Amino acid sequence: MKDDFSIKGEAIAALENVQKPGTETSIVDAHMVEELDVNAGVVEIVLMADKGIDRKDRFSLEDKVHDAVEAIPGVLDVKIKTVTEKGGATPKAAAPKSKPAPQSNSVPPSAPLNGVGNVIAVASGKGGVGKSTIAVNLALALKQLGKRVGLLDVDIYGPSLPTLLGVSKRPVVEDSRILPLEVAGLRLMSIGFLMEEDTPVIWRGPIVTGIIRQFLRDVDWSGIDYLIVDMPPGTGDAQLAVAQTVPLDGVVVVSTPSELALVDAARGLQMFETLNVDVLGIVENMSKFVSPSGEVSYIFGKETVEKEAKRLGVPYLGDIPIDMDIREGGDKGQPVVLASPDSDISKSFIKLAQSLLDVKAGPDEGGKKKGLFSFLKS
Ligand code: ADP
Repeated sequence: MKDDFSIKGEAIAALENVQKPGTETSIVDAHMVEELDVNAGVVEIVLMADKGIDRKDRFSLEDKVHDAVEAIPGVLDVKIKTVTEKGGATPKAAAPKSKPAPQSNSVPPSAPLNGVGNVIAVASGKGGVGKSTIAVNLALALKQLGKRVGLLDVDIYGPSLPTLLGVSKRPVVEDSRILPLEVAGLRLMSIGFLMEEDTPVIWRGPIVTGIIRQFLRDVDWSGIDYLIVDMPPGTGDAQLAVAQTVPLDGVVVVSTPSELALVDAARGLQMFETLNVDVLGIVENMSKFVSPSGEVSYIFGKETVEKEAKRLGVPYLGDIPIDMDIREGGDKGQPVVLASPDSDISKSFIKLAQSLLDVKAGPDEGGKKKGLFSFLKS
């Protein structure tokens, strides 16, 4: 039987083809899909309609949603409820296909994850700075340091974990818990496991939030010391969803030495500060290039991240140079810390992981985070 997880992915895709009444916009793009849960083949959907939606329009919309989702192999039943923007159900919400209200995520936001020691986000102000590469190799380096590690990829714009670790299997659902994949001794879950290859990503708002909650709450992460969460770049729904779903033990921000990346990184840091998440430090990626003859070039700038960290009063965790093995290893699904654990470049990742553990274990510097970035707010 098809698992609920796959059905959810297909249901979201099917709803992309249902349009908001009177428009050409899909109900997904129009943020009308408030919730979508799948339980043993039963799909429960809450639609958010404009206040005062015409009854005929609502029934016709519910019919279209019902038909689109019912056509998915493995779906046993479809339950739809329509609510209006004020939060109340529309007058006849219990009609045709609307049976019991779908249970939303029943766990209160911010309850800690059972059996997980620390949840650490890896974030960046902009894309392409090597955030996912750092997240994967950092997770492997923590494992080398004797920690039990999970890696969750919620980068909705470009989930890279399947490529970086060469896995594309669908996760298995057992007793309504999603079992993470196990690769190279890491527990893994990626938003990419839900997507078809080459499918453009158009999930928005509530759907992103729902999927992220499911990844954090319904996946069996128990028994790990560190859950590393690879965030999407920038500041948006996904970051908020993670921070509101579990208490984060901290965030690591990745930046290249370029001025532009640094400005964006500072903005990202400010957002986490606003969300009361500890900033564990900044990593400088692509810090320098050492040619085979030993000549060193500082392509994006020299030691700018360390200076910026000092200026902002956050820990500087170290640097990772530009290295061919890092890029090739990523493309081949063989991250460098896994493929050549004793190489110099792997040692720089292990040093980074050790700095992170030191910062986590270190004495609380009291007002370290207080008032941080106040200059940005003024
Ligand atoms: P992000 O997650 O920030 O979008 P990625 O981790 O996907 O960035 O990295 C973008 C590209 O840069 C990938 O091809 C990756 O292999 C490469 N890359 C990242 N860090 C390095 C590095 N230190 N040296 C060489 N290539 C790197």
